[in-house]
Amino acid sequence: MMVQYRKLKNRHRDAILFFRLGDFYEMFDADAREASELLEIALTQRNGVPMCGVPHHAARSYIARLLKAGRRVAVCEQTALPAAGKGLARREVVEVVTPGTVLDEELLDGGSNNYLVAVGCAPARGGDQSAQRLVALAALDLSTGEFRATAFRLADAAARLADELTRLTPREMLVQESLLDDSPPAARAIQQHIPRSTVVQRYPDWQFDVAAGGETLCELFRVANLKAFGLRPDAPELAPAGLLVNFARQTARHGLAHLEGIDVYGRDSFVALDETAQRSLELVRNLEDGSRERTLLAVLDHTRTPMGARLLRRAILEPLRDREAIAARLDAVEALYRRQHLLTAVRERLRRVSDLERLAGRVALARAHPRDLRAIADSVRAAEEIAFVLTDRGREPASGSGPVAEIAALAEPLTTAAGAVAAVASLVEQAIVDEPPLSINDGGIMRPGYDAELDRVRAVVEDAETVLLSYLEEERTLSGIATLRLRHNRVLGRYLEVTRAQAARVPSHFVRRQSLVGGERFTTERLAQLDGEISAAGEQIRELERDRFLVLRQQVAGYVPAILALGRVLAGVDLAHSLALAATTGGYTRPELAEPGSGIHIREGRHPVVEAMLPAGAFVPNDLHLDPGATRFVLLTGPNMAGKSTYLRQTALIVLLAQLGSFVPAEEARIGTVDGIFCRVGASDNLARGESTFLVEMNETARILRAATERSFIILDEIGRGTSTEDGRAIAWAVCEHLLNVVGAQTLFATHLRELTEIRHPRAANYSLQVDDDGLEVVFLKRVEPGAADQSYGVHVAALAGVPDAVVARARELLQESHGASGASGDGGRSAVAPPAPETDSAGEIPAPVYRQRGLFSAHELVGRAVAALDVDATTPMAALQMLARWQRELRQDEQ
Ligand code: ADP
Ligand code: MG
Repeated sequence: MMVQYRKLKNRHRDAILFFRLGDFYEMFDADAREASELLEIALTQRNGVPMCGVPHHAARSYIARLLKAGRRVAVCEQTALPAAGKGLARREVVEVVTPGTVLDEELLDGGSNNYLVAVGCAPARGGDQSAQRLVALAALDLSTGEFRATAFRLADAAARLADELTRLTPREMLVQESLLDDSPPAARAIQQHIPRSTVVQRYPDWQFDVAAGGETLCELFRVANLKAFGLRPDAPELAPAGLLVNFARQTARHGLAHLEGIDVYGRDSFVALDETAQRSLELVRNLEDGSRERTLLAVLDHTRTPMGARLLRRAILEPLRDREAIAARLDAVEALYRRQHLLTAVRERLRRVSDLERLAGRVALARAHPRDLRAIADSVRAAEEIAFVLTDRGREPASGSGPVAEIAALAEPLTTAAGAVAAVASLVEQAIVDEPPLSINDGGIMRPGYDAELDRVRAVVEDAETVLLSYLEEERTLSGIATLRLRHNRVLGRYLEVTRAQAARVPSHFVRRQSLVGGERFTTERLAQLDGEISAAGEQIRELERDRFLVLRQQVAGYVPAILALGRVLAGVDLAHSLALAATTGGYTRPELAEPGSGIHIREGRHPVVEAMLPAGAFVPNDLHLDPGATRFVLLTGPNMAGKSTYLRQTALIVLLAQLGSFVPAEEARIGTVDGIFCRVGASDNLARGESTFLVEMNETARILRAATERSFIILDEIGRGTSTEDGRAIAWAVCEHLLNVVGAQTLFATHLRELTEIRHPRAANYSLQVDDDGLEVVFLKRVEPGAADQSYGVHVAALAGVPDAVVARARELLQESHGASGASGDGGRSAVAPPAPETDSAGEIPAPVYRQRGLFSAHELVGRAVAALDVDATTPMAALQMLARWQRELRQDEQ
């Protein structure tokens, strides 16, 4: 047996081998050591071989844990029993489960794709070493059939890999060896931008073969060439794509009928969102803990189906550039937004729609169970109803204006797609009972009347059971034992049971099978015969049901493309419904999309996420007018905590929302479409990655300066903060000039460096956040107005944050001295308003001015912020005690 084991293990060295032995899967050697630790199960030894095992019925949950830990599992079953009870059972690996190719619904997250990604680097063409080498990336979600690929220059690899991997979040990666070896930046990017549990496996160069990949894809899609997918025979994407198909074939051990094509995309296919933008705009993951809470996705997501949820996520990460496509989405959203009753009706029915993409995948891969087919049928019916509701009630007039055509545009594709699979629904409904089991082996699947043969055998069983009952009556009468009972178990089959008291009256043709404390169990010749008939027929029924089910599944498999198509249409309806609901609850308006790069005009814009966190009405809306011909660069100044970062982000989010086809949080918005959104926000700390903050900051800035165009939108927040003030100022200034004179992109630049407001350029303007300062109380109004900020209020913020009074007072003193020394400070001619001179009260003490924001902060919040901002290393025990005392005072005051 161990010879057999080692032979199989040799073929699956990169997986943990589950070796079927009776009711257990056993693991041996190194697998056993690793698995026992990961699964927290006992490690034993037999003849010096370490081993551990899991019961076969619980295997799925153990496999899930190994996948989570980033391991692959090869499942080996007994495929034939040994002849005449001697020798070895034949065993084969029937399935390899890997994190990137898993299909079980329990192991997948409905709201996101499960991507297996391959990355390779094509050699220089024609041996010309100076030619640009290209990196190609392919991504496959085996569960839904989504298959995509892209290519980029090796020189851009680090940046592009960061963008792609952040967006795709692969579960498993196959990387070409020489890419890792030849390009350390690419290798680093891969390491840094994938989830920690992602399996990365090196693959030898020969596995990345363009010609072989082309053949694999042609064969898979049954085409002579791949022109229709935009792939030439020498396209570098063919290598990783081909590898993925082969890998998926090996693990799934089945044809890949649900892979209908490959989507080849480039930088221009959607709005470029660099990795920093994806991260710092908190689109689908927040910066704090990486969860989806407090993200744009969380605010927008009212989807009801997993397909819709995945589409929304993708819409956010891949905003559109084509104005017609955007308008089509907006039309669909508006159509439902204006007909709230219809929105509700659609929403109710979407609940009954299951994950058709993954169901189709399971049908194609021969994994669908009876409940899956039922779910497909139910989804088709729900889709029909939605189509009907849209068509029928869509005719009613909308509130306000709003042509009916938009509803028809939503309804018609749905009617068509549902019509194409109506036959599947009927087939399934005729064949399968309303609440079928998960297993295909235990019967109870098919409806009576569906199959004549099955009905006949079922009738045989029923007849036999009637006969059995009358036989029991007969024996009771004959023996005079009224308590004679007919029972059944797995070991004995059917038997007659007699209580101990009655045992003496048993007739002679009863054959004893078992004696218990309370009674005796018997069989008879006639009973054995009837029991044999019934169990044989039962076995036959189970086999017939299984067989009929497999035939039905095969029939349904013929509809996989149509099921996938319906899934996609429903995903679109769900997306429109979700965006319409978000617009309703958030009070959004439809944006107007204008010529590419023609400016950004927002009246009373809000930050969708910050607004949702604040009490209603607390968020202060702000305007923005960028017009490349007039102002395309805004320098935003204002004290810390004034709202600069929020303003920058909200603008980026409004542009992004408009281009993904959503309504926007503003009273009015006219957006000239952009080709990319770039961000450099906050002093995000990459110390964990072993890079200094400043280096990272400059890296990101460099990328933006290189990748952005005239039609891009850029937000830069506090550039140059990570170095000395002088350096930082110089760099920030030079970056501003470059953006204005060379790149020409529409830019919002927030800074606390007031010197930058001296930049003079016909396309640049100064904006600042207003502060209400009456000398004693500083209130941040969160309102953006033209003009530069006149002072930075850093000291005020220090006080706000709980810095001890003495320190604040001293800082104010120093500030005054420096203002006195330099005369008018550099803010473009205006003189800075000096901080109010401390008043001296009768006791000769300096009273602490009250620094607070009206209504926004409770003492709890202030203390919380102060603690979060505190540099513990730089705090003396004495200062710490003082702070504690002060905080306690404030909290107690607040409670009174
Ligand atoms: P800055 O970047 O100027 O230091 P932030 O943008 O980080 O300031 O904002 C500081 C705080 O003010 C945040 O907690 C934010 O939630 C709040 N805030 C920002 N803008 C607004 C606004 N327009 N209305 C209400 N609260 C706001
Ligand atoms: Mg800020």
